[in-house]
Amino acid sequence: MRLKPKEVTCECGHTSVIDRDTDWCTKCCNRIFYTEKGRRYGKINTFYMYVVAGGVICFLTYVFVELILTPTLKF
Ligand SMILES: [Zn+2]
Repeated sequence: MRLKPKEVTCECGHTSVIDRDTDWCTKCCNRIFYTEKGRRYGKINTFYMYVVAGGVICFLTYVFVELILTPTLKF
């Protein structure tokens, strides 16, 4: 979704012009957001991604233990 180009100042102080909800700072490569709401949403989104990634890792560990280690230990 294209938005009206707007100047956004990054946490590092570098100002970038963005026309999307979110973009990367060209100086420090941090994420920058069009609005404050977008910034908060981005943080929740990042947290959610970590939770999902953690869940997947736990699940894979469980599957690994159940399917590979448990039969192996029986011998
Ligand atoms: Zn920056």
